[in-house]
Amino acid sequence: KAIENEEFMIVYQPQILLNENELIGFEALVRWNSPEKGVLAPYKFIPIAEETNLIVPLGEWIINKVCRENKRWHDMGYSHLTAAVNISAKQFAQDNIVQVIKEALSKSGLSPNYLELELTESVIMDDFERTINLFNIFKDMGIRISIDDFGTGYSSLSYLKQFPIDSLKIDQSFISNLTKDSLNDITIANLVIDLGHKLGLQVIAEGVETQQQINFLSEYSCDKIQGYIVSKPLIKKDFEKLLSNNYK
Ligand code: C2E
Ligand code: MG
Ligand code: MG
Repeated sequence: KAIENEEFMIVYQPQILLNENELIGFEALVRWNSPEKGVLAPYKFIPIAEETNLIVPLGEWIINKVCRENKRWHDMGYSHLTAAVNISAKQFAQDNIVQVIKEALSKSGLSPNYLELELTESVIMDDFERTINLFNIFKDMGIRISIDDFGTGYSSLSYLKQFPIDSLKIDQSFISNLTKDSLNDITIANLVIDLGHKLGLQVIAEGVETQQQINFLSEYSCDKIQGYIVSKPLIKKDFEKLLSNNYK
């Protein structure tokens, strides 16, 4: 019903190139604007949507919406923006996942190079052979793939080598501790960045909130950042304001 009533909305969180301080894309994050409960964060409804399979139509709505918006921004002249979209376990497990994404791209006219799928380690490790297969299809289409919350799941270094992925997203838990002089977290963040680079991947840090964290991440040559220090996730109107300030 909430989908029919258009109660879901997407907010857009900027991602920037750390060195150039240039806005190069965004992560799309879903919110439920419930008439009874107000604006709800994903943790309040995504687990239920997963359990009830409603994540499938919801996920389809999200990918279509985000491709459409990003294409609109490209047409407005912001043609370097990459849209990162979270793909949930159930959604990834659907037989028609490739079809759904293909259609979202063809209906919107967005070039596949400007769509990035975010998947967590547990989702991609669930069925290794199937994942490799799908990732190769996505790669052939030109879509980018990113491993979300990297470092928190079931990581096997041998799979990283075999998956045709583009980037690693260091989990916020490691980033938030960068300020607390936690030697272990500093070491882990540093290692993830090096690991990513040695495998030819880009590395993005999420949940970046302080200048001190930025200093660490610059020192370790992290490629991109996303977090409150750059901007909170923004509604469309505010994201467009930011775009016009950054680009023109
Ligand atoms: P995620 O994909 O790891 O998204 C990052 C989360 O960190 C977002 O929370 C974002 O608002 C939050 N965040 C960003 N910068 C900062 C920061 O500087 N500090 C802190 N403390 N937090 C920051 P959000 O929007 O509540 O989303 C939570 C999770 O819900 C996401 O984690 C993702 O797993 C899921 N989710 C969100 N949108 C979607 C969606 O469209 N589809 C699916 N399947 N899952 C989604
Ligand atoms: Mg994500
Ligand atoms: Mg994450």
